[in-house]
Amino acid sequence: MRCIHCSEKAVFETPPLCKSHFSEYFERTVLRTINDFKLIRKGENLAVASSGGKDSNVLLFVLKKLGFKVTALAINEGIGGYRSLLLDSLRKFCLQQEIPLKIYDFREEYGFGTDDIAGHGGVCRRCGTLRRRLINIKAASFDVIATGHNLDDELQSLMMNIVKNNHEVAARIGPSSGVFNSQEAARYGFTRRVKPLFFLSEKEVVIYALLNRIPMINASCPYSSSSMRRHLKIPISRMEDESPGIKRRIIRGFMKISGPLKKSYGSSRPNRCVICGQPSKSRICSACRIASEIEEKLANSH
Ligand code: SF4
Ligand SMILES: [Zn+2]
Ligand SMILES: [Zn+2]
Repeated sequence: MRCIHCSEKAVFETPPLCKSHFSEYFERTVLRTINDFKLIRKGENLAVASSGGKDSNVLLFVLKKLGFKVTALAINEGIGGYRSLLLDSLRKFCLQQEIPLKIYDFREEYGFGTDDIAGHGGVCRRCGTLRRRLINIKAASFDVIATGHNLDDELQSLMMNIVKNNHEVAARIGPSSGVFNSQEAARYGFTRRVKPLFFLSEKEVVIYALLNRIPMINASCPYSSSSMRRHLKIPISRMEDESPGIKRRIIRGFMKISGPLKKSYGSSRPNRCVICGQPSKSRICSACRIASEIEEKLANSH
């Protein structure tokens, strides 16, 4: 198969594109998403929430290439043999790409790591909530947090939240997350979160990483549960095989109706947590509740 723009061999099929035209298409899609949805303004300071995995590595690389001011911000949850592996690779990658990197540690910030709370149930929910709060706190001096969520992640989230009847959460899905605009987000203590890879599939991210020698470490978290997200992956891939482009069409279709949906949830405004000052719907945020529950459990087990 040959590239539709030149006579070179195609590395991608829908549509057939060669190495350089594929990279061009990928970068153009990122830039178009940023411009169409006003995700990042010129000169803004960007924190890329980095896991050391392929999506955030690709995001760091492409944003730097497009001329944005990026810093990699990573959290070490304290998961031996998993996050340590990814963070070692991230350190090397950032050094090679001359990207500033900041790593914050659960054990230093909370006094325990995820390995210490394993066996206490609900590991993922706790780990994820504590990580999101830490990123929000550490990114407060940045204008925007960019995350590496791709089209597949977002379609899975959309379907998962519809199935679970979480319509308010489904309403937040979009290249710019949250039900607030950027001024409102700042007022309520959030740093704006954006997803420049929103319209690019996982397959496209993998091809871009391969073509640009971006590290893709094959490691999975020992605590990741067999979630509904993973079960949805199979039927979604089957749908895409039978009808190429359907994932993008569903997400684009949803974007057309998500505006009114977001507005309908716009009235629920968060307060500030009385302990940490972070935005929260209740008096004490879920991260503070989780942290004190864990401290108590760990103290009782000694
Ligand atoms: S899979 Fe779960 S436990 Fe592992 S890093 Fe992610 S949130 Fe934490
Ligand atoms: Zn070409
Ligand atoms: Zn709190």
